[in-house]
Amino acid sequence: MSKDNDCLFCKIIAGDIPSEKVYEDDTTYAFKDINPKAKVHVLIVPKSHYPNVAALASQDAGQLAHMVGVAQSIADREFHGEYRLVFNTGKDAGQTVFHVHAHVLTGEVLDE
Ligand code: AMP
Ligand code: ZN
Repeated sequence: MSKDNDCLFCKIIAGDIPSEKVYEDDTTYAFKDINPKAKVHVLIVPKSHYPNVAALASQDAGQLAHMVGVAQSIADREFHGEYRLVFNTGKDAGQTVFHVHAHVLTGEVLDE
């Protein structure tokens, strides 16, 4: 399990910074976004540190697929299986935390 001691989400996964847990298994953690952009806004992260979705896809595609499955199960529970899944990738695309995370937006009809 690779970890970056300066990474906010590594600290959340370790429990050093509090979060509102939604889901957890051996490889994956999901928690509520502190600044929600939809009725349900959850962040799904691998417990291992990868800087972005491209690095994750090339190094562990199965983990990426697993995260999509976790997103689906959250949306199945919250909003008849429909959701928006976003990976901001790079500073100019709005990425502020460089530990790959899927934004799951659901729980209501979303604006385009
Ligand atoms: P991004 O801008 O795609 O890198 O997304 C980072 C997300 O992390 C933002 O939506 C923030 O609201 C969220 N965030 C930052 N700090 C925390 C925290 N301590 N707990 C939960 N979510 C956070
Ligand atoms: Zn990290």
